[in-house]
Amino acid sequence: MVELATVLMLVATATLTPITSSSWLWFGLLLGASVIHLEAAQGIERIREVSAEGSPYTHMQSVWYFAGVLLLPLPLLALLIVLSFTHEWFRVFRGQAIAYRKVFSAATVVLAVGAGQLAFAAFFPSDGPPYAAQLDGPLGAVAVIVAGLAYRLVNYALVVGAIVASNPEQPARKALGHASDQLIIAASVGLGYAVGVFTVDRPWSMPILLVTVLALHMGLLLPQFRIAAHTDSKTGLVDAAWWSDRAADQLDRARRLARTVGVLMIDLDHFKEVNDCYGHLAGDQVLTAVAETVRHSVRSLDLVGRWGGEEFAVLVPAVGVDELTAAAERVRAAVQALTVDIHDLEGQDVTVNDLTVSIGAGVYPASGAELSDLLLAVDGALFQAKRQGRNRTVMASRIVTAAARERSA
Ligand code: GH3
Ligand code: MG
Ligand code: MG
Repeated sequence: MVELATVLMLVATATLTPITSSSWLWFGLLLGASVIHLEAAQGIERIREVSAEGSPYTHMQSVWYFAGVLLLPLPLLALLIVLSFTHEWFRVFRGQAIAYRKVFSAATVVLAVGAGQLAFAAFFPSDGPPYAAQLDGPLGAVAVIVAGLAYRLVNYALVVGAIVASNPEQPARKALGHASDQLIIAASVGLGYAVGVFTVDRPWSMPILLVTVLALHMGLLLPQFRIAAHTDSKTGLVDAAWWSDRAADQLDRARRLARTVGVLMIDLDHFKEVNDCYGHLAGDQVLTAVAETVRHSVRSLDLVGRWGGEEFAVLVPAVGVDELTAAAERVRAAVQALTVDIHDLEGQDVTVNDLTVSIGAGVYPASGAELSDLLLAVDGALFQAKRQGRNRTVMASRIVTAAARERSA
C-alpha cells in the first residue's frame, strides 16, 4: 500500500519541476555526504538497528533527506533516498536485513519528503524547488517548521502503524520508541535545513557541515544509546545482560516471523594455563585478541557478547543447523590461526599461538523454544565439547535439551 502510494506520487509529480544542472550538483553533494556519513557511522548504526527491534529505528540520514526537500525536485529526491537505502543495505546490513522492511522504510521516507515539499508548496505556491532560496523572513521560518513536522509525522505515523500492525502482542508504547528519537529527528531536520540553505549558493559549505553532522552523530548519539554502558571494557564486546536482552528480542522476532536464531557459546580451552605461564596481564591481551577474532569471523549482524570470564556468546539470526555449524567452525579455525604477541612475566617477547576453543551451538526453535531452554541446551553442548576432548563444536539437539533439563532438575 505504502509502496504503491509512493510510486503513484512519483509518477504524478515526475514532470512538474524541470531538473536543472544545479539540481544535479546538489543531488551529487547530498548523495556524497549521505554515503560518507553512513560509512563513518555504520558500526553504530548496526547496533542501533538491532537494539531498535520492535521500535522505530531513527535515522540521522534525515539531515540529507530534509536538505533535499529544500533543494531537489521530487524525482531526484526519491532517487537520493533509493540510492542511500541501497548503499545502507549493502554496507550496514550486507543483505542480511529483511528486504521488505527496508523497501517499506524507503517508501515511508519518500512519502515523508513528499509531505515536506507539499508543505513548502502551500507556502510558496508560485515557485517550485529549490525552496532553500526563498526562506527569508518569519514566513520562511514557519514554512520550515511546518515542512519539518509534515516530514516527521508522515514518516513516524507510517512506521509506528506498521510496527503496531505486525506486532499486535507487543505493548503499543514500545512501538512509539524513545522520546530521545524525536529529539534526534528534530536535530537532523534542523541540520538538514541549515545544509539546504547553505548549499543553495555555497556548495563548498558541504564538507564543513558534513564534519559537523558526523561529529554530532558519533560524539553525542553514541553515549545516548548507552552502548558504552553495555560494553565490556576489556574486550570491547557487549556484556552478558545486554546480549541476553537482544537475544530475547531476536527470539520474539523469530517467533513472529517463523524464523530461526542460532546461538554459539565459546569457551577458551585451558585458558588458565595462559595466565599461569605468562601472567594475567598477558592473559587479558590474549583474551582481547580472541574477542576481536571472534567478532571478525562472524557476520556483521551477528552479535558477539562476553558471556563470562573467557566465554563468549554469539547471536546468529536466521540460520539453520548447517550454517550455524559452518559459522562455529569458522570461529574455531580463526582462533586456532591467531597469534598474539605479548610480554611474559620476565618482560620477554613471546608469541602465543595454538589457542583453541570449544563451542556449543544450538538453533531456536529446534534446540529450545525459550531463551532459557536454548541457552541450557547450548551450554550442555559446550560441556559435551569439553568432555569429548575440546577444540571442537557440538550441536545441541532436542535430546540434549531434555537431558539438560533432567540434569538441572
Ligand atoms: P577449559 O575451559 O578448557 O576447561 O579450561 P580453562 O582453563 O579455560 O578453565 P575455565 O574455563 O574453567 O577457567 C577460566 C579461566 O580463565 C579462569 C581464569 O584464570 C581465566 N580468566 C577468566 N577471565 C579472565 C580475565 O578476564 N582475564 C584473564 N587474564 N584470565 C581470565
Ligand atoms: Mg575455558
Ligand atoms: Mg570458562
